Amino acid sequence: MTTAEQTPTADYRFKAEVKQLLQILVHSLYKEQDIFLRELISNASDALTRLHFEMLTNRDVLDPDAELAIHIEIPEVAEGEPKKIIIKDTGIGMTREELITNLGTIAQSGAREFLDRVSDNKELDPNDVIGQFGVGFYSVFMVADEVRVVSRSYKKRAKAAAWISDGSDEFHIEPAEKEDRGTEMHITLKKDAADLASPWKLKQIIKKHSDFVRYPIYVDGEQANQQTPLWRKQPSDVTQEDYANFYRQMTMDFEEPLLTIHFSSDAPVNVRALLFIPAKREKGILTTRKDPGVMLYSHNVLIQEYCTDLLPKWLEFVDGVVDSEDLPLNVSRETVQNNRLMRQLGKMIKGRVLRELKKLSESEPDKYKQFWGEYGRYFKEGTAIDPTAKEDVLPFFRYHTSKSNGELTSLDAYLERKPESQKEIYYVTGDSVSSVANSPHLDPFKARDLEVLYWVDPLDVLIAPGLMEYKETPFKNIDDADIELPETAEEAKEEESEAALPEKEFNQFIGRCVTTLGDKVLEVRASKVLKNSPVRLVSPADAPNREMDRIQRLLNQDYEVPKRILEVNRSHPLVAHLAHLVANQPDNALINLGIEQLYDSALIQEGLHPNPADILPRIQQLLTLAAAQADQS
Ligand code: ADP
Ligand code: MG
Repeated sequence: MTTAEQTPTADYRFKAEVKQLLQILVHSLYKEQDIFLRELISNASDALTRLHFEMLTNRDVLDPDAELAIHIEIPEVAEGEPKKIIIKDTGIGMTREELITNLGTIAQSGAREFLDRVSDNKELDPNDVIGQFGVGFYSVFMVADEVRVVSRSYKKRAKAAAWISDGSDEFHIEPAEKEDRGTEMHITLKKDAADLASPWKLKQIIKKHSDFVRYPIYVDGEQANQQTPLWRKQPSDVTQEDYANFYRQMTMDFEEPLLTIHFSSDAPVNVRALLFIPAKREKGILTTRKDPGVMLYSHNVLIQEYCTDLLPKWLEFVDGVVDSEDLPLNVSRETVQNNRLMRQLGKMIKGRVLRELKKLSESEPDKYKQFWGEYGRYFKEGTAIDPTAKEDVLPFFRYHTSKSNGELTSLDAYLERKPESQKEIYYVTGDSVSSVANSPHLDPFKARDLEVLYWVDPLDVLIAPGLMEYKETPFKNIDDADIELPETAEEAKEEESEAALPEKEFNQFIGRCVTTLGDKVLEVRASKVLKNSPVRLVSPADAPNREMDRIQRLLNQDYEVPKRILEVNRSHPLVAHLAHLVANQPDNALINLGIEQLYDSALIQEGLHPNPADILPRIQQLLTLAAAQADQS
């Protein structure tokens, strides 16, 4: 004998959280009461889907031939008696123990979020926001005086049991009579909610919230949801509103998707697909689509709820339905993975998604910008995980550049703008657009009117080693000491006028930099390219991993400041003044402070400084000296 049979009847107290939730729900009414039906239908639909998947591998269930469906009935009641509704499903059902755990504690994170929100904000009327949360099963107490849940599990040997509560602190468990598989919710309506006991009213609510539930919902024997596979219709027969409704009911995401793609084809593979790119990368708490992947159908039957084998990982944010009559109905996970047809199907869908994205980028640049902001990282990571992805995703990359004026630009646009003679794609790395915009490395590029990409996303640097080139034009980091650039006419002229700082004085200053900075730098030397900046740090030619230095700093893993070459601009006034000081007042405190500050500033500029706040005391010293001198004159 099981324990269930020894103690068939028992009372239990709800968990504290449930009590709190019930308190609110029992006293809420009017505004959002309809959503109880959405929640109960959604639970029934989940239970049907779970049974459906069980039966893919196990036919040994109770009532294997019962239709997967939801039935809503309005039983006759005597005059003056409270009205009733019964919601039945032929889903997976619950055992006695499952009734206790599933309906006695909060499983739903949406409900918890809801509680947090209303208890944090005393002003908030729960009535106004309930509909936006997946408060789940307990929402039935918005309309019910009493609920009796009778359930029988799909497991053949399990007995039926009933769960009864009036929404107070307790629920009651007892044995029950039920021959067939599934769950029945017997709802005794509150007086104020009695008008729900009307087939017309129920159908109206179903139309609004549950029209696309994939099992038939019958109200008094008549199907109330259209349950149409929208994706099987001709795109020309579907309105934008249909798509929006379908998306909302499928995902419970109340924000319109960024992109909707609907297409069909019969060759080389039969496919009907309706795909969406959600507006946000992060899934909302309410979402009914918990995992990445698309729903895979064959002959109108769901064979995988989250299929990730169809599209590459870098497109896993694409949601929706793919339906192909060419797929065998009895596919297992393994055959799905190794199926030639699946590969063909995947290739076709990937091609279509990329084509639509390209169109979006051309016709709705603002929307595309939003897409890139949300999902650009998937594409970037894609190049690191899958080298063959580069060709597909690089055309979609967008960067700020030294010439883009705050806009984003594509690599194709960059290539189009560059002069014929330029053989590389230049980029500069740093922590933000505003910091790299002032990078001394840009001096020679600005002088030559050459465009430089700003790589300010840590991912840019991480994936740099794998990128190599775009359309046969190699990427080139402009902090490279030996970068070869054509000489500008202006530069040739300037070289003569540089005599302003005599060779000897300049060399003395270089020597002073070496003694002051010691082994913090590999070398100090004159710069051939700097214009507006006094110094810069460049990488020695044999530093293959320099891109990683910034990453290491960001990750904070035993960060050691990398050694670079300090290049000094001979014609910069700050350098000239310091060099004069070295020649005439070698003990002036400004010299060493100035050199150290120049070095630290360059480190910050490169995004390599371990702790920029460390320089503040020195800046104060420098200011004091400068103010004192100004005060004397
Ligand atoms: P959620 O659906 O998010 O899990 P709910 O509060 O709506 O949260 O439901 C709680 C749990 O009760 C479900 O996870 C499920 O295990 C169980 N349940 C509710 N309704 C049914 C049903 N009709 N058939 C089987 N199990 C159900
Ligand atoms: Mg639910």
